Amino acid sequence: MYAFERDIIEFMKMTHGREGGEIIKYVMKHPGATDEEISNKLKMRENIIRKVLYDVYAWNGVELQKKRMSEGRNYEFRWKINYAAFYKHIIAYYNDEIERLKEGLTFLESVDFYTCGKPHHPVMTIDEALDYEFKCPLCGEILHNVDMSGEKENIMKKIESIEEKIQKIERHYELFKKKKIR
Ligand SMILES: [Zn+2]
Repeated sequence: MYAFERDIIEFMKMTHGREGGEIIKYVMKHPGATDEEISNKLKMRENIIRKVLYDVYAWNGVELQKKRMSEGRNYEFRWKINYAAFYKHIIAYYNDEIERLKEGLTFLESVDFYTCGKPHHPVMTIDEALDYEFKCPLCGEILHNVDMSGEKENIMKKIESIEEKIQKIERHYELFKKKKIR
């Protein structure tokens, strides 16, 4: 199994739980697998399998071949992984997460926060603190400026680790493409 395939499984576990990871892993190993086949092999209900795969299908992470079965009115669904779409989706997902974290960081940097300092007592912006005349609404103690540098550092570390993750996935995908195409 290629490192990039492991990235996909890890991503599916994160977004769709253990079952999502197993379903995608099965389709990876058996391109063209049907719902019924996946269901039998993984001992999972077909509607669960379809729900996961349609979710991924919505952003083209899997390709679907729909064939009318000869005797009945039922259709047969055959699934295949679209690796390029998976790659684009995972990278976009982590870039969105970085965007959200950066917005949070900008917010923390743009506003001063006030509190009495006791655990579980409110932390307020300056406008809210003014409303309470700089006294804690719970205990009446004077509010003082909160040091948010720890929170900021945590967010920056998170951003860094996601950036590393993106770079790793990019490397894995490049290797995957080279080996697959030959
Ligand atoms: Zn207080």
